[in-house]
Amino acid sequence: MSIQTINPNTNKVVKSFEEMSEKAVDEAVALAEQAFTSWSKTTFKERAQLLNKVAQLMRREKTVLAEMITLEMGKIISQAEGEIELSANIIEYYANHGEHFLADKPLDPLAGSAFIRYSPIGVLLGVEPWNFPFYQVARFAAPNIMAGNTILVKHASIVPQCGIAIENLFKEAGAPAGIYTNLLMSGKRASALVADNRIKGVSLTGSAAAGASIASEAGKHLKKSVLELGGSDAFIILEDANIDKAVDWAVVGRMNNNGECCVAAKRFIAVESIADEFLKKFTAKLAAIKIGDPMDRSTELGPLSSEEAAVQLADQVARSVAAGARVILGGKRADRPGAFMEPTILTDLEPGIPAYYEELFGPVASFYKVKDEDAAIKLANDSSFGLGGSVFTEDIEHGKRVADQIDTGMVFINHPTWTQADLPFGGTKDSGYGRELSELGIDEFVNKKLIRVSALSDPF
Ligand code: NAP
Repeated sequence: MSIQTINPNTNKVVKSFEEMSEKAVDEAVALAEQAFTSWSKTTFKERAQLLNKVAQLMRREKTVLAEMITLEMGKIISQAEGEIELSANIIEYYANHGEHFLADKPLDPLAGSAFIRYSPIGVLLGVEPWNFPFYQVARFAAPNIMAGNTILVKHASIVPQCGIAIENLFKEAGAPAGIYTNLLMSGKRASALVADNRIKGVSLTGSAAAGASIASEAGKHLKKSVLELGGSDAFIILEDANIDKAVDWAVVGRMNNNGECCVAAKRFIAVESIADEFLKKFTAKLAAIKIGDPMDRSTELGPLSSEEAAVQLADQVARSVAAGARVILGGKRADRPGAFMEPTILTDLEPGIPAYYEELFGPVASFYKVKDEDAAIKLANDSSFGLGGSVFTEDIEHGKRVADQIDTGMVFINHPTWTQADLPFGGTKDSGYGRELSELGIDEFVNKKLIRVSALSDPF
């Protein structure tokens, strides 16, 4: 049984789910296609009404939904509640601004007049990860439903209850059948579904391997795809940084969501003059973090999402140490049942050591002391990923000059990479392509149709 709720705090199976049959998936696609014919003709006001209702229900059910997140993937409960709020904000943001974003855009051609009209393209498939089970879906579903598309969501197999709960919110909000459908199926089957000619576009958030599989299928069938993949964000601390603030944000940047964020600060790069002070304070704060049951409000670090994830992370650390990395803190599985890993800091990393290039998805920080700012920028860019990154300095103009040289989709000054409804989110290089959130996020799966008006009196 591949689709299961397994509580990572105990590693016990809570509930198992039957995968949908091929016939059931086929019927879901047919229903989404049929729903598109009417949904694409609804007004923005009607679409906004549905989305606002979904957001309202999400807030009403916040406690139950947050507990579901914590049960299925181990996020600490206060952060799970925060995720529900953030997801509702995103849904309302598109309900409130979608019509404005998709209004006809006048052009100024050399002759005559012209404008761009935005129209929905059809049924979309979203393949979503477990690390933010509601937020990731909100980023994909809200803009696209507002644009008039219909949605099929293949959620991660370890968060089936979250996937079903989101579909139920849409049902309860009065969504016509086929507007939003949850597909209970494994990832392996998702790529094949992209070939279905009723599906017009696909968006995947997850690993590079899954992204490559989906994108190659989309390319083969000439379909638009958006990929939001992994990252290994650099967190650069310059000489003129406020060190105490940088340390506080470093802890949040690495430990938020138990370290399982695509945009977590993963590589801490400090210039020589302040590196020792930063590392000492950072180590002390990570050492004091309280590990425990993620449902307990005093817990600061919960389990990883699954036993498999914890085994993989511990193995990455062990392989790195065998290749020459030094452990400053932690380095092992925590001594308790469940999918726990100790807060860990690795140093003495260089190319050839696994932790130098691999994404570490959990509470493991890589620390680098470098000669100067140029060396920090060079190291930050020495990654196959290009998602986010941070620069800490008290001189904002200085921060902007450094940010300009970082080869990623997002750079934050004096803050870890973060997210909110009105800021575009996405990466370059192996972190994927396309953007979610903000005005850019509603622009991905719409036809931008040129309508050109000529006067009948225009010459041939
Ligand atoms: P994953 O294994 O790629 O899973 C993500 C989704 O893809 C799941 O629904 C999974 O289904 C599905 N999937 C897996 N293999 C597939 C395939 N061959 N074809 C089609 N679909 C497939 O990702 P993960 O390791 O669980 O998630 C962590 C990764 O996601 C990290 O690299 C993280 O950085 C990245 N991430 C990126 C962003 C972003 O916005 N850039 C946000 C969050 C996470 P099953 O669960 O059924 O296998």
